[in-house]
Amino acid sequence: MVRGLFFKLGYPLLLIFGWVFRIRKDKVQRFLIDVNNRLVRRSKRSPAKRLLLLLPHCLQRSECNIKITFNIFNCEGCGKCEIKDFVEIAKAHGLDLFIATGGTIARRIVVDTKPEAIVAVACERDLSSGVIDTYPLPLLGIINERPHGPCFNTRVDIEKVRDALAFFASNAK
Ligand code: SF4
Repeated sequence: MVRGLFFKLGYPLLLIFGWVFRIRKDKVQRFLIDVNNRLVRRSKRSPAKRLLLLLPHCLQRSECNIKITFNIFNCEGCGKCEIKDFVEIAKAHGLDLFIATGGTIARRIVVDTKPEAIVAVACERDLSSGVIDTYPLPLLGIINERPHGPCFNTRVDIEKVRDALAFFASNAK
């Protein structure tokens, strides 16, 4: 409810405010993701039995030729990128794990898998649209790290992902 109001009223106002005062859009998007995560963590709910973990394609090493877009479990586990760890986590905990190459694909995956909760890793732009698109589903967003620039060999703090998954699996409240 509070999340919905924030998405419908607060965020558009914030975008206008940001435009007027020339605040960088990614900063406004980062704020949206942060507020969303806080509200989701404050909400009461039962532990989620069906959890979806969505990852961006740019986490895969650029030199890796294995096709993981349609099936991330094709990863051969060489350990050069975090995909290996996520495959192991998904297998150990029975998670739905997918690569989302864009908003349309992400929405289709959500429709197909019907999760009770989502943990998503992406850049500010994709995550901010994702949290709004998937509302009222609870989603915790984790912004990726981009040491080589956008969309190329990106990284993510796996502990943040583990923590978000544990939150939904156990329910903090
Ligand atoms: S861990 Fe998997 S996806 Fe990453 S580089 Fe190795 S084989 Fe490719």
